[in-house]
Amino acid sequence: MTRKIDILDTTLRDGEQSPGCSMSPQEKTIVARELIRLGVDVIEAGFPVSSPNDFRAVSEVGSIAGDKAIVAAFSRAIEKDIDCAAEALKTAARPRIITGIGVSPTHMSDKLHMSEDEVVECTTKAVAHAKSLVDDVEFYAEDAGRADADFLVRVVQAAVDAGATVINIPDTTGFCLPEEYGALIAAVAECVKGIDDVKLAVHAHNDLGLATALALAGVRSGATQVECTINGLGERAGNTALEEIVMAIRMHGDELDAHTDIVTSELTRASRLVSRITGMSVQANKAIVGANAFAHSSGIHQDGVLKSRSTYEIIDPAEVGASGSDIILSARSGHAALRHRLQELGYTFEDQEFEGIYERFLEIADQKKEVYDEDLESIVQEFQRDVSAIYTLKALQIQCGDPLVPTAVATIIDENGETHVVSTTGTGPVDAAYKAIDKVVGIESDLQEFAVKAITRGIDAIGEVTVRITAQDGRVYNGRGADNDIIVSSAKAYINAVNRMIEASRARG
Ligand code: MN
Repeated sequence: MTRKIDILDTTLRDGEQSPGCSMSPQEKTIVARELIRLGVDVIEAGFPVSSPNDFRAVSEVGSIAGDKAIVAAFSRAIEKDIDCAAEALKTAARPRIITGIGVSPTHMSDKLHMSEDEVVECTTKAVAHAKSLVDDVEFYAEDAGRADADFLVRVVQAAVDAGATVINIPDTTGFCLPEEYGALIAAVAECVKGIDDVKLAVHAHNDLGLATALALAGVRSGATQVECTINGLGERAGNTALEEIVMAIRMHGDELDAHTDIVTSELTRASRLVSRITGMSVQANKAIVGANAFAHSSGIHQDGVLKSRSTYEIIDPAEVGASGSDIILSARSGHAALRHRLQELGYTFEDQEFEGIYERFLEIADQKKEVYDEDLESIVQEFQRDVSAIYTLKALQIQCGDPLVPTAVATIIDENGETHVVSTTGTGPVDAAYKAIDKVVGIESDLQEFAVKAITRGIDAIGEVTVRITAQDGRVYNGRGADNDIIVSSAKAYINAVNRMIEASRARG
């Protein structure tokens, strides 16, 4: 049997640090359920001390994970961070505190203003304190990729001596070459006493497009935990993509003496879900989960694949769940069929909540005859978004055409249940609708990006709109909306982004 490599997914912590990708506690639990279906070993659910919402998210993920996954919370090597992480993890059956400190020259002198001795002392204190609160403690040596190897060994030794159960050697800035990084991991594996009794982890960033190569180099050098995110989401250019590292290990398990327990047929669904929730689209040529990952267009390639798939395709699309969804439901499907299918997709609802979803399902099913899994996911997320929203779009009427002045009449309900009816004109139907929303909300923001996409095939497909807005303080928010009518989708997406902007500013107080 090859070595089991643990997959720590940090989509909910490092991933949501991507600009515009922050997730509400409710959205995090939706993603966490999918991570459980994927079979990840550890869910890093958030950074509890950073905000009340993140604290709640960690607690909620802890309560749904049960014994199916370890739930981890991030902290700095500061007592109040660690206490807060432990508190948030009280709901978890298998809690892990992640704590750590910068170990590169620039982190120590420019950021921390600490000497090497002080960093070692701080490490010992933080790990020992975390260890007094939970059994499972992961220590990260931040910016290890640019650290002095001898000093790194010294810090890691302190963490191991203080009781760390996992040691993470991150290339925080995505600076290393794979062989350099591998050598660093090997040095720690060789020189630290007692390292055989702890798990060695790799955490890489994609600043040079090497995140997956770095993680693989680490696995070759003895790492048995890889930290990664769905779609490679994360700070700056992102983290190692879960789908890439998992499939690379799967294709080369013998050479690497490694395997993971990931259910690969869930990879495509997980990718789409995270993209939909964060509003961050996946590039078409993205490995494993991109729209073109299994598309062949040149004549020579098509001819080859028709003769034998293996000529130009190393992965069977079915292996990663990319073979397309089947038609499953229609307007004639009853309550039981819908409830059953939603359960299979991992969603369960109270009766009252389910009624709302069923009604929305019927509307969609009336308009388009075939309802796909992707449509259902979109209905559920739309519904859940509406429930917690500050502003909701009740109705939208648009007049446009040539030669007409585009005019929107929007009915918007605020969180107090008050109805606002506004009418505006614009340069086009979307502009008119957005100006109507602005009138009600009364907060300025700047529209940066606007994209329309069909969720499923066919001209009657639900049109999904993604927008990106910048608030006056420069923070970025994504929003998403789905409807058969793309102008309605556009308005919903904009309201969604505005709601996130308001929620975030309230959460900051
Ligand atoms: Mn990171």
